[in-house]
Amino acid sequence: AAMREERIEKTKTVCTYCGVGCSFHVWTKDRKILRVEPQHESPANGISTCIKGKFGWDYVNSKERLTKPLIRKGDHFEEVEWDVALSYVAKRFKDIKEEKGSNALGFISSSKATNEESYLMQKFARQVIGTNNVDNCSRYCQSPATKGLFRTVGHGGDSGSIDDIAEADMVIGIGTNTAESHPVIASRIKRSQKLFGQKLYVFDLRKHEMGQRADKFFSPNSGTDLVWLSAVTKYIIDQGWGDRTFIDKWVNDFDEYKESLGKFTLAYAEKLTGISQQDLKEIAREIASVDKLAICWAMGVTQHQLGSDTSTAISNLLLITGNYMRKGVGAYPLRGHNNVQGCSDFGSMPDFFPGYEKVANDVVRKRYEKAWNTKIQAEPGKDNHEMIAAIHEGSLSSLYIKGEETGIVDANINYVTNAFEKLDFFVVQDLFLSRTAEFADVILPASPSLEKDGTFTNTERRIQRLYQALEPVGDSKPDWVILTELAKEMGYDWGYQHPSEIMDEAASLTPLFAGVSYELLEGYNSLQWPVEKDGTDSPVLFLDGFPFEDKKARLFPLEFNYDYETNETYDLHVNNGRVLEHFHEGNMTYKSPAIAREMPMCYVEVSPELAKERGIEEGAEVKLISHTGEATCVVHVTDRVRNNELYLPLNSSGESAVNFLSDNRVDKDTNTPAYKEIAVRMEVLKKK
Ligand code: SF4
Repeated sequence: AAMREERIEKTKTVCTYCGVGCSFHVWTKDRKILRVEPQHESPANGISTCIKGKFGWDYVNSKERLTKPLIRKGDHFEEVEWDVALSYVAKRFKDIKEEKGSNALGFISSSKATNEESYLMQKFARQVIGTNNVDNCSRYCQSPATKGLFRTVGHGGDSGSIDDIAEADMVIGIGTNTAESHPVIASRIKRSQKLFGQKLYVFDLRKHEMGQRADKFFSPNSGTDLVWLSAVTKYIIDQGWGDRTFIDKWVNDFDEYKESLGKFTLAYAEKLTGISQQDLKEIAREIASVDKLAICWAMGVTQHQLGSDTSTAISNLLLITGNYMRKGVGAYPLRGHNNVQGCSDFGSMPDFFPGYEKVANDVVRKRYEKAWNTKIQAEPGKDNHEMIAAIHEGSLSSLYIKGEETGIVDANINYVTNAFEKLDFFVVQDLFLSRTAEFADVILPASPSLEKDGTFTNTERRIQRLYQALEPVGDSKPDWVILTELAKEMGYDWGYQHPSEIMDEAASLTPLFAGVSYELLEGYNSLQWPVEKDGTDSPVLFLDGFPFEDKKARLFPLEFNYDYETNETYDLHVNNGRVLEHFHEGNMTYKSPAIAREMPMCYVEVSPELAKERGIEEGAEVKLISHTGEATCVVHVTDRVRNNELYLPLNSSGESAVNFLSDNRVDKDTNTPAYKEIAVRMEVLKKK
C-alpha cells in the first residue's frame, strides 16, 4: 500500500473550464487522473468546484490527442519530425513576409493557453513578423464589456473579487446564465441571498435557474437592455436619488450625460423593452435604496450590435449611484474562458501591448522597440473579424491559429471556412485534429494545462500559477516552447528556459504587472492586477480614484440605434448560450466520455405556445434556417422560453448549430459578432 501511495502525485493546477479560476490539487498516478481536491486556500473557490472542474480531465488522455506535427500532402496529412515542421513553417512565413509584407500574416492566440503564451504570441507577431495582426477569442465574447469599462472607469476588469459579491446588498444579473456558466459564482450569490437577504434581480430572455431564484425576474425584449438601463438611470437622476457627493468628487461629464438621457423616458423604455413603467420605477427605487450594488453580466449583453454601449450603460448607472471604489460594489463582467482575461491582458490584441497600452502611443511603442530591438508599426492591426474579411479580400494570405476552434466558434461559419480555403498558408496549433485544423497546411501538436507550467488570470483579475502534473503526450509541446523554437528558427533567439522568465520580461515592460513574479505566485498565492513594483496587488479596483490623469471617471452619453428584428421569412428569434456540462466549442469536453454521456445531442428549446402552434411535441425534429445556413435539432418544449423565442445551446455534439445560423452582424465598437441576434424560420421534420 505504501508503495502504491508513493506513486500518487499531487500537483496544484487551475481549472481550464471557466473564468472563475478554481484552483485545486490534481492527484495523478502515472497518466491516470485520480481525483481533484480543492483546498481551503484556493482563493477563488475555497473547497468548491463544479462538474467540469471535477470530472472533465480525461480528455488529456484521449486517444485522439495529436502526438506528432503534421504537414498536408494533397488531401491528407503526413507525420513529420519537429525540425522538419518548424523549418517549413519558418520558411513559408519568411517567404510570405518578403513577397507580400508582414501585414499579409495574421495570428490568433488562445484564451485557454497561459498568460506567458499570449505574451509570446503577440511578441512573435510584432517582433518576428512585424505586424499588429494579432487577436484572441475575447473578440467573440468579452471585448464589449472591456470597451464599456475602459470608456467610463479606465480598467476593463471586475471591480472587486468574487468574494466581495457576497457583501453587496443587491446583485443584478443581466444576460448571464450564471448557474450554468459560472457555477461557483452562482453558488456564492445563492448563499448570500439565502443567508443574508441579498436581493437578486435577473434580466434575461430565458428564465434559467438564476431567473427562477431571483427576487424579481424581467425579460426585456432582445437587445434592449441599454434602454431600460438608461431609463432607470435617468429616473434616478430626475428623482434626485443619485449619489451627488460621489458624482461631484469622482465623475466627469455629468451635465452632458444628463442631457443625453432626455429621450430615455419611462414611456419610451416601456415601449421598447416591454417592461412596464411601474416596474421600471420600482427597479430604480430599489437600486437607489441599497448601499451596495454589484452588476454581473455576460454574453447576453455583449454579443449584440450594441454590446459595448450596453456595457457602458451599466457602468454609467454604477457611477450615478456611487457604486464604485468600495468593496462589494461595482462592475462584474463574467469572463468565459479560463484565461480570456489574461489573454487580452498580455497583449494578444491588435491595438494594445500587454497591460492595455496602445500600440499607437509613441512612448509605449518605443519601450517595446528598444526591448525587442525591432521596429513596430504604429497602426493597430486587424482583429479576428477583420482578418477573416481580409482573407476574402485577398490582403491576408497566412493565418496562425493557436488553440482556437475558429472554424466552429466564429459567427457565420460557412463564410469563415470559405476564408480558410482561400489561405496560401495556414498553421493550426492544437491538442486535437479540430475542425479548424482540417483546413490547415501544418498542424502543430500542443500540450494542455496539466502538461505545463504557467499562469492564468481569472475573471477577478487574479493571476494564479499552474504546475506541470504530467509529461506532454507523444511529441506534443507546450505552446510557449513551440513559439520559442519557431522564433529561433526565424532568427530570433529568445532563450526562454521556463515561463517564469517570460513573466519577468512582461513585468519589466508592463506597468500593470510591474511587481508580478513567480516568487509571489508560489503555490496557492495569487496577485490581482494592477500589481505595484513592490508586489502590492489590487483586490478592489479604484480605491484611490480612476486611472485617468484627473483620477475621475467619465460618464459616456449613448444612443439607441438598433436595426435587428425578425420578419415574415425569418419569424423566430434564436437566443443561445452555454450548458453546464460543456465548455464553449467543446473541443475538450466532447473528448471527455463522462461529459458526453450526460449531454449527447443538440437540442433547441421551444416554448409551449410555439410548440402548440406548430403542432410539435417534445422530441420532435426540426430544421432551423437562417439567411446564412441551417441546423437540425431535437425539440425540447419548456416554459423557460416564451413565444417566438428559441434557445440553442452553444454546445452540440461536435458542431455549433448556432454558427451555421449567425451572420456577419457585429458590435459596432469592437467587431464582436452579434451571436444573440439571429432570425430563423423553422421547418418541422418529425412532429414527435
Ligand atoms: Fe470552477 Fe469554472 Fe472550473 Fe467549474 S468550470 S470548477 S466553476 S473554474
